[in-house]
Amino acid sequence: MPEESLFWADQIAAAVKERVSREPVLQKVVKEKGYICYDEKTPSGKIHIGSGRGWIIHDTVAKAMRSMGMRARFILSSDDMDPMDAIPSGLDRKKFLPFMGMPMKDVPSPVKGYASFAEYYFMDSAEKFPDFGIEVVLERTSTHYENGDFNPYIRLALDNFRKIQEIYKKLYGKANDKLPFNPICGNCGKIGTTAAYEWDGEREIVKYTCSPHLVDWAKGCGHQGEISPYNGSGKLPWKVEWAAKWPAVGVVFETAGKDHFSKGGAREVAIRIASEIFNYPPPYPSDRSEIGKGYEFFTVGGAKMSTSKGVGVGFREISEILSAKILRYLLVRTRPHAVIDFDPYGTNKLLLLYDSYDRTERIYFGAEKIENEKELKQEKRIYELSHVGKLPENLPPRIPLSFASMVIQTTNFDIGKAIQKLQETGKTRKLGKEEKAYITERLNDASSWVRKFAPEQYRFSLREKSEKVRLEAGLRNALADLLHALTSLPDEEEEKLEEKIYSIIKRNNLEAKEFFRACYTILVGKDHGPKLAQFILFAGKEKVTKLIEESI
Ligand SMILES: [Zn+2]
Repeated sequence: MPEESLFWADQIAAAVKERVSREPVLQKVVKEKGYICYDEKTPSGKIHIGSGRGWIIHDTVAKAMRSMGMRARFILSSDDMDPMDAIPSGLDRKKFLPFMGMPMKDVPSPVKGYASFAEYYFMDSAEKFPDFGIEVVLERTSTHYENGDFNPYIRLALDNFRKIQEIYKKLYGKANDKLPFNPICGNCGKIGTTAAYEWDGEREIVKYTCSPHLVDWAKGCGHQGEISPYNGSGKLPWKVEWAAKWPAVGVVFETAGKDHFSKGGAREVAIRIASEIFNYPPPYPSDRSEIGKGYEFFTVGGAKMSTSKGVGVGFREISEILSAKILRYLLVRTRPHAVIDFDPYGTNKLLLLYDSYDRTERIYFGAEKIENEKELKQEKRIYELSHVGKLPENLPPRIPLSFASMVIQTTNFDIGKAIQKLQETGKTRKLGKEEKAYITERLNDASSWVRKFAPEQYRFSLREKSEKVRLEAGLRNALADLLHALTSLPDEEEEKLEEKIYSIIKRNNLEAKEFFRACYTILVGKDHGPKLAQFILFAGKEKVTKLIEESI
């Protein structure tokens, strides 16, 4: 029963359901629109991996809701009405400078094929969503403005601007004396440079100036004008806009990075405005009196991911070097309030993550038993909600990433050869088309791991040509014994070969360490290597025999 589940997304789904049942306003919203899990992003440049955590959280909660029979959707909005206030590095500054201060939806795309600057950066990440199993409805904030969805809230905000000033005063100690509306300048098309100074509620007209000195990143044209604030002629300042989206869209769940949830932060302002001006209960994890908690940082490779600081690695970039499926698993398995600092570079962390995924999968299919009932339920839920695509009916064939990395290196990164070897050595059963796809995927992941992340001790390649190695008599005898064993061993069985290797070591009064060191020196030119018996069988007895014969 999901209600009893200890899994974080089930708990959030249950809490939201309970919240809605207490709030008549929300009951009405849900009846009409279903449960809306909402997230938004300013497409001002490459979006950082940290935001990916938010997307996975909202998607997972929406999935959990649906599995509880709730009609739920995850909607992600592109804040494309926001002004361009910086030029992303790598772009032609001269070309984009004239657009500074304009709504990002009106700035041209740096790459052909996208309607605008905003659309390009938004889709740059969103195009990867299917790989992550993220089911989402994408929308643009400008569309809501143009459709008039925000009109009632623009009217309320302008009529109540003194109350909004009071809210700022209470939270910050000083009032924000600007009218809560930024028109798009009728002359130069900029939105970052305008300030409204008068609201005529009767004529429903806002008077504004486009100031050359309002911000230091864009220069207004000096135009003075008046404009109806409705239907896309301008926007609400973002904290007010955040509050307006909740009733306009019908949001019941929206979380964000914990930096927004600090005391006096953007979320608190939005909560006050939503509940006091728009009379809408702020979405979970906030309510009218509590800010709640945002999700923790997600970093890959050590650096803090923060769009505002402009550091860290892009969501799309990361999804092209790491498997989206395994990243989803990591994010689903970890509670949103725990920091994730995932560093795959030069560590075995990725190996451990794959092992953990495989274990969760075996538990789900009953191939690995665990006694603890709670843990069993938890692992099953993690599997269901982190699996990308249709759940398989049976346990898929898997090989551990570490083993796959040995196989792929031994077969010179040739997937076809690797699969053939796996079948010849009896490491996998005969593979059907679908099963082959699982193994191929794992071999690809392993080859990417070896090439991009693996610490030096996991990398090796079988020598092409032998080199003479000076060895003591004991070792030479032992290697001769190994050659004999290889020719006489009738079937290629790893366990038998391993037993043989240890008996050879013992018979020749050697330390295991020195024998292995000699073998690895001959075979891979290093003093360490993968599990010897397994490696010999994958490299091929003939090749190994030849190398040893020529080296001693
Ligand atoms: Zn202007």
